[in-house]
Amino acid sequence: MTVLETAGSSLSLGEGRCRRQMGEVISQPKTIFFMSSARKKAVDTVINREVVAPRLTGAKVSDYYASNVFNDKAMRDHLSDDAYKAVREAIKTGKKINREVSESVAQGMKAWAMGKGANSYTHWFQPLTGATAEKHDMFFTPKGDGAIEVFSGDALVQQEPDASSFPSGGIRATFEARGYTAWDPNSPAFIMEIGDGKTLCIPTIFISYTGETLDYKAPLLKSSHFLEEAALPVVHMFDKDATRVTATLGWEQEYFLIDEALYYTRPDLMFTGRTLVGHSPAKGQQLEDHYFGTIPERVYAYMLDFEQECHKLGIPVRTRHNEVAPAQFECAPMFEEVNVAVDHNQLLMDIMERVARRHKLRVLLHEKPFAGINGSGKHNNWSMGTDTGKNLLSPGKTPKNNMLFITFFVNVLKAVSEHADLLRASIASANNDHRLGANEAPPAIISAFIGSYMSNVLDEIEKRVAPGKYDELSNANLKLDIHNKIPDVMLDNTDRNRTSPFAFTGNKFEFRAVGSSANCAQSMTVMNTIMGNQLVNFKAEVDKLVKDGEGKDGAILRVLRGYIASSKSIRFEGDGYSDAWEKEAKKRGLSNVKTTPYALDFYVSKKSKDVFVKNGIYTERELEARYEIMNHSYVLKIDIEAKTLADMATTVIVPSAIGYLNTLIGNLKGLKEVGILGTAGKSQKDLATRIAAHINAIQDGVAKLEAAMEAAHKAKTTSDAAKAYCDKVKPLFDVIRNEADALEQIVDDNVWPLPKYREMLFIR
Ligand code: ADP
Ligand code: MG
Repeated sequence: MTVLETAGSSLSLGEGRCRRQMGEVISQPKTIFFMSSARKKAVDTVINREVVAPRLTGAKVSDYYASNVFNDKAMRDHLSDDAYKAVREAIKTGKKINREVSESVAQGMKAWAMGKGANSYTHWFQPLTGATAEKHDMFFTPKGDGAIEVFSGDALVQQEPDASSFPSGGIRATFEARGYTAWDPNSPAFIMEIGDGKTLCIPTIFISYTGETLDYKAPLLKSSHFLEEAALPVVHMFDKDATRVTATLGWEQEYFLIDEALYYTRPDLMFTGRTLVGHSPAKGQQLEDHYFGTIPERVYAYMLDFEQECHKLGIPVRTRHNEVAPAQFECAPMFEEVNVAVDHNQLLMDIMERVARRHKLRVLLHEKPFAGINGSGKHNNWSMGTDTGKNLLSPGKTPKNNMLFITFFVNVLKAVSEHADLLRASIASANNDHRLGANEAPPAIISAFIGSYMSNVLDEIEKRVAPGKYDELSNANLKLDIHNKIPDVMLDNTDRNRTSPFAFTGNKFEFRAVGSSANCAQSMTVMNTIMGNQLVNFKAEVDKLVKDGEGKDGAILRVLRGYIASSKSIRFEGDGYSDAWEKEAKKRGLSNVKTTPYALDFYVSKKSKDVFVKNGIYTERELEARYEIMNHSYVLKIDIEAKTLADMATTVIVPSAIGYLNTLIGNLKGLKEVGILGTAGKSQKDLATRIAAHINAIQDGVAKLEAAMEAAHKAKTTSDAAKAYCDKVKPLFDVIRNEADALEQIVDDNVWPLPKYREMLFIR
C-alpha cells in the first residue's frame, strides 16, 4: 500500500485522477501529508471540474445589445420631447440641466428601469481607490398603509454618500465627511443585473464639499472639454464645418484566469493579486504555443458569458483571444468616446470578476501575477474625431485633409516629447513597476514609434521647408507630395513595433504601457491635457506668423517643421526592450524612471502644475492631494505584500520545509542504524544541510523585512515612506522569494503546501 493511499483514506483526499497524477510515493509519515492536503484537494477539484454552460439566450447579439442601457432610443421612448432635447443639449454643450427637466428625466428613467425589473438605484462613481463605488437606495417609500415608488430629480442629479472612507489626500478631513456625486449625462445610465437583482446605475462624478474632484471621471471630463476647445480652432483652419471634437479610446484588456480552488490555497493571490513565491515551471511561454491558440473550453464558456453581460450594457466587446502567457487572455471592444470607453472598461472589469465566480474561476487583473511569465497590460488606442466624421489621426483623401492629419500627428509627437514625464507618471503603480521594462512590456522610457512612412514624410518636411524665409511655391509642391505619399501609410500595417510604449498604428496612437488593472482615465486625462495644451500653443504660433505677414499654409508648415525637429528625441523605431535603447535614451536625455514613488514626483513638478492648473484640469490642491493618495496607495500595497510574504514564509513554507527536513533526518538515523550512513547517506546529508540553510536565510530575510517596514513607517511624509518601501522593503521580497523558490525545487512535491506554477497555469 502506498502512503498516499493511507493518507488519502484518513484525510479523505479526492478520488481518482488527482491521485493517479500525483503518483506513488513511499515512506512518508502521515503528519506531513496533512500539511499539503489543501493543495492536493485543490488540484483534485480542478481536474474534476465540469465546464459551466454559459447562460446564453440563443438570441442574436443585435436582439439584446444595449437592452440595459438608457440610451438615445430609451430616452426618446421614455422622455417628453422637451426633456429629451434638454439632455441631448447638455451632452453636446455641457450645459446644466435645470431642476424641472431633471425631475422629468428622473420620472422617465424610473419608468424605464422599473419596466426592466429594477427596484433600486445608485449613483455609480470611480473614487481614487481604483474600484468603482455604489450605494443602493430603493425606489419605494412608505405611504399610508402601503408604499409607492419614487425617484426625484434631486436624487438623479446629486447624492451624498458617506464619503469619509474614500481617499481624499487630506482635502476632506473625516469630520467633514461630505462628498457629492453628481450626474454625468454624457455617459448613459444602465441596469446592472446581479443574480436576480436589478439596479439602475447612474454614472456620476465625485467631488468634495468644497468642490475638489475626488475621482477619475471629473478630471477626464474636464480634459476632454479642454481638448475640444483647443482642437476646434485648429480643425477650423482646414474644415469649417466641424462643431465638435471628441477624444476616442479603444482599450484592449489582458487578464489571467485561474481556478478558484487553487486561488483559495494561495494567500498571496487572495491578498495581493500576485504570487509572491513560486518557481517557474520547466515549460512557460517559451514555445509561444498559447498565443492565439485554441481557447480552452472552460475559458470559452466564461468568455461567452461575460461578453453577453457586456453586450446587454452596450459595451461593444468584439475580440477575444489567448495571449502570450499560459492562462492569459485578452478582449477588446470597438472604440468609443473616451468618457464612455473608460466607464465601459471599469464596468467590464467588474463584470469579468463577477462572471468568473459563476465559472469557479478567478480573473487576475494584476499587472504581473506570475514572475518570469509575461504580465498584463491595457493598450489604450487613442485618437480624436470630429462630428463631420473625420478621424484626426487618419490620413485623408485630399491634400487639405492630409495637412489636417499631419498637423495633428506632429502636434501629438510634440506634446508627448514635451510631457513624456507626465505620461510616465500617469501609468505608475506598484503593480505596473513589475511589468515596465521587464522585457515583455515597453520600458519606463517614453518614446514614440511612427513607422518608416511617417518618418520619411516628417524628414521630407524638415528638409524642404526652409527654416528662415518662406517659399510658397515649394510649399504647394510639398503639400501635393505629402498627399501622394500618405495613403500608403494606411496599407502599411506590417512594420508595427510591439516594443514601443506609444506607437502610431495607421489611424491612432496606441499607448501600451498602461497597466491591466488601471483606470484608463488616469492616462487619458494626461493625453487629452497635453494635446490640448500643445494645440493652443500651435495655434498661437501660427497666428503670430500670419500676423507678421506669412501665408497660412506656410506658417503651418514652418511651425510643424520646428516641432518635428524639436520632438525628434522621443522618436524611436528600434527594439524598445533592448539594452542598447536604454543607453541610447540616456544619451538623448530621456528620463527612465523605473519605480512608482519617483515617477509620481512628476505630478507635482512645476511643469506639470503649469499644464494642469493653467488649463483648468486640476487645481494645485487637487494635484497635491492626488500625489498624496497615490503615494499612500503605493505604501499600502507594498505593506500588504510584505506582511503576506512574511506570513507565508513563516507559517507555510518554513514549517513544511522543516517537516521534510525531519523526514530526511529520520532516514539518516535509520541509515546509521543499519550501518550504511557513510556510503548511502552523503546526498541526503547534503540535501538536509541545504534545506536548513534556506530555512535560515528565509528567517533572516523575514527579520530584515520587518525591520525595514518599521523604519519605513517612521518616514516624515507619505512620499518619503513610499520611497523607503520601494528602496528598502521591496528588494527584500526577492531575497526571501529566491530562498523559498529554491526550497520548492528540493522539497518533496508531496509535502509542498502551495499550488505550483504548473498547476495554476496549465490545468484547465
Ligand atoms: P490591433 O491593434 O490588435 O491590430 P485594431 O487596430 O483593429 O487591432 O484596433 C485595436 C483597438 O483600437 C480596438 O479596440 C479599436 O476599437 C481601437 N481603435 C480603432 N480605431 C480607433 C480610433 N480612431 N480611436 C481610438 N481607438 C481606435
Ligand atoms: Mg494592440
